Amino acid sequence: MEYSDYRGRFAPSPTGPLHFGSLIAAVGSYLEAKYHDGKWLVRMEDLDTPRSIAGAADGILRTLEGFGLFWDEAVLYQSQRTAAYEEALHELQRIGAAYPCACTRREIADSALHGIDGQIYPGTCRHGIAAGRTGRAWRVRTDNQPVAFNDALQGRIIQHLECEIGDFVVKRADGLFAYQLAVVVDDAFQNITHVVRGADLLTSTPRQIHLQHLLRLPTPHYMHLPIAVNQAGEKLSKQTLAAPVETGKPAAALWHALAFLQQQPPQELQQADLETIWQWAHRNWRNETLQGISILPAA
Ligand code: GLU
Repeated sequence: MEYSDYRGRFAPSPTGPLHFGSLIAAVGSYLEAKYHDGKWLVRMEDLDTPRSIAGAADGILRTLEGFGLFWDEAVLYQSQRTAAYEEALHELQRIGAAYPCACTRREIADSALHGIDGQIYPGTCRHGIAAGRTGRAWRVRTDNQPVAFNDALQGRIIQHLECEIGDFVVKRADGLFAYQLAVVVDDAFQNITHVVRGADLLTSTPRQIHLQHLLRLPTPHYMHLPIAVNQAGEKLSKQTLAAPVETGKPAAALWHALAFLQQQPPQELQQADLETIWQWAHRNWRNETLQGISILPAA
């Protein structure tokens, strides 16, 4: 095996039951970790408390267990990690990489250009907040040095953060830490060596690498799996109200997840029990079949 120290993770946001798109990320990250004889961790990204739904975290964990997706170490809950995010923000402030921003959503919307992931912050508060205004959020400075990495499936990815994304929020106006900061702090805290997740997060990765550099944290290997889109071409997510996976029929759902991941499970395996399908999946897992694919229609 190439990496006996391989540590992968699945990091769901508990905003509803597990849907097919998340199952793909769970199965893909799990099989990839096991293929490398590594550990597979689960991290509950319950940081965004206004969007978290009571009981959803437990529901997701029970669903994973029902699928035979057992994690190797205690589940880490982001809601309990505020002190670590605060410390990282202090470090960004100390090195002059973070600054307070007084802009409202409306003000940004009125002046910003649209980028590859929402509006590009026009830099209004970059050199200080206008007199009489108070900081609401914290942003991190970006520049136009290319941020590049080699994705195991998507190839070489290059982004110029300042012109493509803009200075981005690390602590929100409502006081919550942003996903980009939390994920970087926690991937390092959990010694994650390999991040396997949906290609919808591909545009976030350069921001995370930028933060890793600023915080002097290691950059893991990245693999962005194809995402499932519905017939309207929308990503399957809780926002598009994708149907939860049928927890009563995990074997069938696992077969479909493997088919979606281009593993070509044999038709007759559709009738098999969960354990038999897992045995087949462990023996036959190949990630090369997914090279260059970032979007696939859900079956
Ligand atoms: N919590 C994120 C989501 O559910 C995934 C974060 C990640 O894998 O980095 O979309």
